[in-house]
Amino acid sequence: SGSQSPILEVDGISMYFRGLRALDDVSLSITPGEIRGIVGPNGSGKTTLFNVISGLYRPTRGRIRFRGQDSTGLAPYRLARAGMSRTFQNLRLFGDLTVEENVLVAIDRNATWHSWRYVARPISVLRRDRDLHRRAAEVIERYGLAEFAALPPKSLPYGIQRRVEIARAVAAGPALLLLDEPAAGLNGDEVRQLSEIVRSVRDSGVTVIIIEHNMGLVMSLCERITVLASGHVIAEGEPAEVASTPAVIEAYLGD
Ligand code: ADP
Repeated sequence: SGSQSPILEVDGISMYFRGLRALDDVSLSITPGEIRGIVGPNGSGKTTLFNVISGLYRPTRGRIRFRGQDSTGLAPYRLARAGMSRTFQNLRLFGDLTVEENVLVAIDRNATWHSWRYVARPISVLRRDRDLHRRAAEVIERYGLAEFAALPPKSLPYGIQRRVEIARAVAAGPALLLLDEPAAGLNGDEVRQLSEIVRSVRDSGVTVIIIEHNMGLVMSLCERITVLASGHVIAEGEPAEVASTPAVIEAYLGD
């Protein structure tokens, strides 16, 4: 695997908000097929890093390469088209559509991005698209959501809503999935289910980067972990290696 070229390279990224350095010369490299954990105390820059990678923020300095192409400053929809997908800390589902319709929209959205604009098809049209329904049904089945397909997400338990969000993010077949605190608000059983889902997503060929506060989950799920503190990478390596690094222990004690 050492010879495989990275799917994502973050090279010397700094991100300033007025005087505040949220990220300072951050570099990392993600190998295709890995599950990478990003951890660090609150305010260490994790979400900012996701926002830069996924095109929501243009970095003050540094470059990002996605699938071998310079993607620095590309708009989020272009990155989505190129095969990058993400979830957010706060769920962003369409609460009034059904679970199935949320998935329909996600598949269709990726299929209908045009070079510079997003041409939305109304939900009434999507509802009549047989091929789209077939593809959505596959995704719904795969993520164990069949019994909830006709219900609006807002009527469902929080753990199921989180699962819908992941199903929606992978529906269009991304190469790279960014998960921002997917275990937030989940109970023990739901965290175990999440862990299985993330593994199966990876086994289906998707590279995963996960920001997570649940250390048990990160340690058991990730092959490698990158630790941020005050906008710097302070450690990177296999879980056991990172957990015994003095700088990491110190950063967490100060949290
Ligand atoms: P984490 O996800 O690790 O908790 P964040 O990336 O959310 O950390 O935040 C890192 C730092 O950047 C924090 O000090 C935060 O207040 C600041 N920050 C994040 N986004 C913005 C923004 N849009 N404007 C100003 N400051 C921001």
